[in-house]
Amino acid sequence: MAKKIAILGSTGSIGRNALEVISALEPAFEVVAMSAHHRVDLFCEQIEAVRPPVAAMTDPQAAQACRKRLGNCGCEILAGPDSLVEIASLDEVDIVVCAVVGAAGLPAALAAAQAGKTLAIANKEPLVIAGELLTRTARQHGATILPVDSEHSAVFQSMQSGCSAEVDKVILTASGGPFRNKTAEQMRRATIREALKHPTWTMGPKITVDSASMMNKALEVIEAVWLFGLPVDKIDVLIHPESVVHSMVEFVDGSVIAQLGTPDMKLPIQYALTYPKRVRGVCDRLRLDRLGKLTFEPPDLGKFRALTLGFEAARSGGSAPVVFNAANEVAVEAFLAGRIPFGAIVDSIEQCLEAHTNQSHLLSLEELMATDAWARQYTAQHLSASFKTVIQK
Ligand code: MG
Repeated sequence: MAKKIAILGSTGSIGRNALEVISALEPAFEVVAMSAHHRVDLFCEQIEAVRPPVAAMTDPQAAQACRKRLGNCGCEILAGPDSLVEIASLDEVDIVVCAVVGAAGLPAALAAAQAGKTLAIANKEPLVIAGELLTRTARQHGATILPVDSEHSAVFQSMQSGCSAEVDKVILTASGGPFRNKTAEQMRRATIREALKHPTWTMGPKITVDSASMMNKALEVIEAVWLFGLPVDKIDVLIHPESVVHSMVEFVDGSVIAQLGTPDMKLPIQYALTYPKRVRGVCDRLRLDRLGKLTFEPPDLGKFRALTLGFEAARSGGSAPVVFNAANEVAVEAFLAGRIPFGAIVDSIEQCLEAHTNQSHLLSLEELMATDAWARQYTAQHLSASFKTVIQK
């Protein structure tokens, strides 16, 4: 019997890669539902190619345009943000690939956990914002959370060499992004084009900017805390510009087990789908003989303040990671719109964290979303008061 998959966020970078992986794994896997936000053209193309019985668009107008375009094609198109929850909890779905950008994927991820699905989680925000709630819900309902983020997939694969009590350290690798060799001042003044020029990975704009500030790694530290049930002090970050060693685990005996591969998201996506098995797929092979050498260096915490703030937010726990993430989402959007300089992203996160009073009890979805909304509003107001004109195109 084919494993039945729902892809949340099929038009994004992860979603497109997931469709490619799955089409190579047919007939063992079958996409039975997928969702997108508002990219009508691409989503219609995907529906025509995949022919799932049900699809969802979170933007109602886009859903309407999609229905009109596809006519009577045998695919029911649901509309609105709640439609994500609906397809994540469909009876026939075995695996939910969660690749929605940002906090918007949280209710659907929770719904999938409540429905006892296997949740292949590619976007880090649900774990960053609601790590405790999501992992607890998964345990209560027998759902499995499998990482798709390349670093966490690497950690997860390395963990197969021992048990969690034998783990001394998880070492998350980071490329260092486009500003690794720039000064703090050059980084502060970086343009959109410079921030979007990632040296090794091809990803969506939000995560590429997050990689440039190392906010992405900060979010990944928090993600690792929840995915692997580790105290934050057991997590280290190491700069590795070649992006070949995707992360490693150091065990109590001193053995370090790493996972290596080409920088291609198709491999971690495939592993989450086929786990605990491995199969031939569509990924390129790693040629270490051509690479010659792999290099490592410690991160510059003075320059990449997002990383320091991320470790602090992880240590504080409670609502701090929610604020940390929400402020960043708003600031990155403003940066990508040319409204604020690159350096203002981290400044505004720090400011928002300072203005926030941490709540340390287990927060409900409603409380999490209220904190998220507060941080977004605070940051938006702070940014529009500080930056009144468009500074770059
Ligand atoms: Mg990653």
